Amino acid sequence: MALRAVSAAAAAAATRCRDSPSSLAAFSRFARRTVASRAEEDRDAVVDAPTTSLLGMSEEALTRLAREMGEPGYRGKQMHDSIYGMRKARVVDMALLPGAFREKLVRAGMEIGRVAPADVVSSPDGTKKILLELRCGSVIEAVGIPGDVPWDAASGDGPRRRRFTACVSSQVGCAMRCSFCATGRQGYKRNLDAAEMVNQVMALEDVFQRRATNVVMMGMGEPLMNLGNVLEAHRCLNADVGIGGRYFTISTVGVPNAIAKLAAHKLQATLAVSLHAPNQALRERLIPSAKAYPLDALLRDCRAYKKVTGRRVTFEYTLLAGENDSVEHAEALAALLRRNVGGGCHVNLLPWNPVRGAEETHARPSAKATRRFAEALERERGITLTVRKTRGLEADAACGQLTGSFVRKRRVSGGV
Ligand code: SAH
Repeated sequence: MALRAVSAAAAAAATRCRDSPSSLAAFSRFARRTVASRAEEDRDAVVDAPTTSLLGMSEEALTRLAREMGEPGYRGKQMHDSIYGMRKARVVDMALLPGAFREKLVRAGMEIGRVAPADVVSSPDGTKKILLELRCGSVIEAVGIPGDVPWDAASGDGPRRRRFTACVSSQVGCAMRCSFCATGRQGYKRNLDAAEMVNQVMALEDVFQRRATNVVMMGMGEPLMNLGNVLEAHRCLNADVGIGGRYFTISTVGVPNAIAKLAAHKLQATLAVSLHAPNQALRERLIPSAKAYPLDALLRDCRAYKKVTGRRVTFEYTLLAGENDSVEHAEALAALLRRNVGGGCHVNLLPWNPVRGAEETHARPSAKATRRFAEALERERGITLTVRKTRGLEADAACGQLTGSFVRKRRVSGGV
């Protein structure tokens, strides 16, 4: 088999499993294994060595891979159909391919990269949160949110169909350490690769037995700290899985220079910026990383994103009782957005979902306080807003919480 394919596999495996210092050595050992023993492992889904995921690859990339492995180019299309059309989960199940090629793929360390949920938690409102255990042993979560309103009925955009949103994690843990966020409290472990992000959407589609209409990068992690892989996942979800480019939202707390980099790709995605405060001092108290990215620079980059892409920017604002939820805060936020971003702003208000360990410092605002804040903000013309329903709260499942309790449970039962 072609050496280039093997070394590409080794490099990708090294990136994916970089927590393991010996991943390259492990890959070489692995690559020397016999066809039979590796095929056996693939069949049994036993994974103990780094591999390369086919998930995330375009038809062109799969065609290139097939040729590099000495196969005719049309095997690329066959692999593409198997992965994204027939949704095969294992290389050995790609019946469109001859057995010898499947074995060759397995021997080269190729896997599809589909991972089934280790746990599914359902909330009475229809939201389901899935937990995915990665080969490195890390656990991530993704959330499926069925919408009950006709698709974009208000704007008349697109066909009328029902919304099903996949909320996707971009990292294992998060380095940004927002004081009220469960993921931030877990610390940062590593970036997810494109396959691991695409798998989240496909796993949710399997659980719900329906296709995702929207993807929001609002799960664990900071997408703009992992921009290359997020862009790759976006490409695949758009072109291969078939989710419209306008129906992506990338959420960020703000990473210096990254918004401009994202804008340069001119995606049709909505940028969602997590503001949480109308001034720099309060923002720094809630978001330690804000110190390195002053509010006026962040909003200047939002303005530029709007200009370059022609897409709107939305702002997320997690409401914390007694900290950022007064009418004065709402008025200051309205003035800030008017001055810095101009018309056409949308604000998403998120009443805080209590997080274990943060209840002494933060509190969820009352429905009345939330309503007062929303009314004050709405007095500003040009700002539209939604108050996020606290979905999944019943399942103790705000961002990062479920993973935390799953890992705790595993520890108690001696699993980790
Ligand atoms: N790193 C990205 C994605 C984070 S999750 C970002 O900061 O935008 C998406 C949103 O949920 C962010 O605005 C985040 O601050 C908010 N959030 C996190 N934990 C929350 C909680 N417990 N209650 C309410 N909102 C929360």
